[in-house]
Amino acid sequence: MKSNQQNDKILKCAHPEHQEVIQVIVLDPTLIKNQRLFCKTCLENFETNHKTIGFKKVMGMTEENYKKKRQFREIIYNQKFKELEELKQKFIKLKSYINRNLDEIIENTEIWMKDLTNYKLQEFNFHNEIDWIIQYNQQIEIEQLAQEVNPINYNHIKKLNQKLEQFSSFKEYSNCKNILNNLQPKKIKQQRQIIIQEVTKRDQVKYKDQHKNRDRQKSQQKDDKLNTLTRKY
Ligand SMILES: [Zn+2]
Repeated sequence: MKSNQQNDKILKCAHPEHQEVIQVIVLDPTLIKNQRLFCKTCLENFETNHKTIGFKKVMGMTEENYKKKRQFREIIYNQKFKELEELKQKFIKLKSYINRNLDEIIENTEIWMKDLTNYKLQEFNFHNEIDWIIQYNQQIEIEQLAQEVNPINYNHIKKLNQKLEQFSSFKEYSNCKNILNNLQPKKIKQQRQIIIQEVTKRDQVKYKDQHKNRDRQKSQQKDDKLNTLTRKY
């Protein structure tokens, strides 16, 4: 923020040719910016129905207001920012959780594909083929071959379904949802209450610190006095 002096130099009164320091501000809502500022020369022919304030006082007021607003903004920022930080961490966790689980799902699918390939490439086994002739009387039963593949498919489907199921009821989902709900705009009254509480808390801390400092200074002064006294005698 610019200091008073800097503003003094930059600010010009309502009259374009005057080069003097601003003396008075008129609080007239119909005037804009410089039209509200008056220097000593302006004031010679000055008349208004509106409230006027001295320049120094108005500077103090604007700075005080700005400080207050900055404090409120900081409190609002602090509330939301902390929650956003937490939400971001949850999203990062969720991402790694999803990645890990999807990797497992892909890996399981690849194992399934390998099992299916092995099923296709079954090697010739003399005794198995004799069994087959006895059982099926030289007829190749397509149904029987199809049956052989069922346990493989069944196991993998069961495994993948379980893994897929967890995505429908994420634990992280409710966590993130809660944070988002907390971030939802609160009623203005409620928000006001929260800010007032925070300001009071800060003021109390400040007050305590000031007292501590004052006590420290007092005891320091006592020590100094004692030192000079002892030096005297
Ligand atoms: Zn002027």
